[in-house]
Amino acid sequence: MSEQDFKGLVQVYTGDGKGKTTAALGQALRACAQGLRVVFIQFLKTQPGGEHFFADKYRPFEIIQFGKGDLFKKGEDQLLSETRQAYDCAVNALTGGKYDLVVLDEIFIAHWRGFLSLAQIMDLLKMKPPNVELILTGRKAPQEVVKQADLVTEMLMIKHPFSEGVHQRKGIEY
Ligand code: ATP
Ligand code: MG
Repeated sequence: MSEQDFKGLVQVYTGDGKGKTTAALGQALRACAQGLRVVFIQFLKTQPGGEHFFADKYRPFEIIQFGKGDLFKKGEDQLLSETRQAYDCAVNALTGGKYDLVVLDEIFIAHWRGFLSLAQIMDLLKMKPPNVELILTGRKAPQEVVKQADLVTEMLMIKHPFSEGVHQRKGIEY
């Protein structure tokens, strides 16, 4: 696809229901299969999910995580430092000309936890080149981002098996 043909927009997937990360992955897969260059950057996630095994096999579909180990055992300093690395990576991905689709998974959670300012997220929207599509996911999308985005989908939780004691299942939740 020629660069002039592609009009990149800003998409937001938010809300309390399941489906934000998987929607972004589905979008990334479709884009990749149509020849778009995709990078999927994950904030505050350190367990490889099924998508990582997929990306290892099917390049060019890059998934990047920062940090290792159990999220719940990490101190705030470490999470802040990993968020900063993910943010720098996002800036480079957006401005470096290497990708047509940049996904920033759970970026809103990083903001909600206090590791990223709203101004930093708004800066990403400003620096996005017109020919790059940007997808931001996570619960609690800030209103300012919702206002600026071109497409916003809220996953509404009507039911989730978690409340019935069903824990994370391999292949479905990770
Ligand atoms: P998925 O990765 O399955 O698309 P998600 O990105 O919408 O889910 P997150 O908010 O990132 O969901 O939640 C992380 C994990 O919590 C996921 O494994 C997801 O399946 C699960 N989850 C999603 N919604 C709920 C809910 N309402 N209650 C409990 N767990 C949930
Ligand atoms: Mg998610």
